[in-house]
Amino acid sequence: MTSRNEELFARAQRTIPGGVNSPVRAFRSVGGTPRFLKKALGARVWDADGKEYLDYVGSWGPAILGHADPVVVEAVRAAALDGLSFGAPTEREIDMAERLCELLPSMEMVRLVSSGTEATMSAIRLARGFTGRDAIIKFEGCYHGHADSLLVKAGSGLLTFGNPSSAGVPEDFAKHTIVLDYNNPAQLEETFKTRGDAIACVIIEPIAGNMNLIKPSAEFMHLLRRLCTEHGAVLIYDEVMTGFRVGPRGVQGLFGITPDLTTLGKVIGGGMPVGAFGGRRDIMQKIAPLGAVYQAGTLSGSPVAVAAGLASLDQIARPGFYELLTARTTRLVEGLTASAAKHGVTFTADSVGGMFGLYFAKAVPQSYADVMGSDKDSFNRFFHYMLDAGHYFAPSAFEAGFVSAAHSEADIDSTIATADAWFAANAA
Ligand code: PMP
Repeated sequence: MTSRNEELFARAQRTIPGGVNSPVRAFRSVGGTPRFLKKALGARVWDADGKEYLDYVGSWGPAILGHADPVVVEAVRAAALDGLSFGAPTEREIDMAERLCELLPSMEMVRLVSSGTEATMSAIRLARGFTGRDAIIKFEGCYHGHADSLLVKAGSGLLTFGNPSSAGVPEDFAKHTIVLDYNNPAQLEETFKTRGDAIACVIIEPIAGNMNLIKPSAEFMHLLRRLCTEHGAVLIYDEVMTGFRVGPRGVQGLFGITPDLTTLGKVIGGGMPVGAFGGRRDIMQKIAPLGAVYQAGTLSGSPVAVAAGLASLDQIARPGFYELLTARTTRLVEGLTASAAKHGVTFTADSVGGMFGLYFAKAVPQSYADVMGSDKDSFNRFFHYMLDAGHYFAPSAFEAGFVSAAHSEADIDSTIATADAWFAANAA
């Protein structure tokens, strides 16, 4: 019997490339049929067959309160009744800008956009316009959206310029992007020594969530700040994923390091399309209409999306919110690790705030190369077992996972119990 998911997948592929509007949704990495979701509430989602899952994807990060949070939904409804879009400034956008600048002290001015990609693309253009330089540094395994300058992988030798990682990106663009190893202070120092004064900016996920979850060393992050300052390069923290996810002040609050620019997305839209970039006033004043760096958007600052974002930010500001979110996530990670250890399965896990990584590896990875060395085949089998049992993890061994405030202890424990059965069946 063909399931409704299979029917929809076949139908989708006739008019939508790969049947999806964003590649990871196609389950290419894990195989099988993607679940077409039709409803989400709290910690749960339901697919086209009506099957229920405990959700650890959370729309890839935004659903920090759980899905369809009633306060957020009401804010959206109320805003929609006043009009969906004006293409003119609104008071709500000022509320959002003021809130973001208050929450992230590194942010003196901020501009709203509609996606994380727009935020990083615009921040890089701004850094180039501000410094008058072309070269940028990114790190292997960090994802910053799909702008041309960012779809670049490391070149063949140390310190060579990057190669396009997507067809359609001209070599002429990629040659301005230097791709370095995450967590490699010596290589970073060497690069600044030889090219430092040509570098417009360094963009980094200050805790990486796009090569599974990887934390940087304090040494690496402090060195990065010092080198950017010494060479006049703009330091961009891409906190699209980590912003308000790892804690109330993002990664910058955890490390106590001040970036020059920050990009945001996901949580600040509460499930609606919102992104933002902001930071030092002297840099932000280079943006049009004040300055010569052009950036714009018909739907930027959408009144409905901003209402959803503000309602979300209100709720995560409640006392104890992050303590609870962190406790739930830690419970998951510790429970899974203990269960795997009990059965002698090579597995470990890590977390920060409401974000976690699962690794079929002996130790928590420190770099892209480490992550690539993990056992993808075991992850894929684990993933399908959990999915069939109603626990929805990200469909790739190389993505971080997310817990929401709507995940109860009982929810987490049921996921651990299910995983325990898999670990037992796959005992060493
Ligand atoms: N930066 C980071 C760190 C991200 O995780 C993502 C998306 N996963 C983006 C940028 C791009 O955001 P969007 O998908 O909204 O364009």
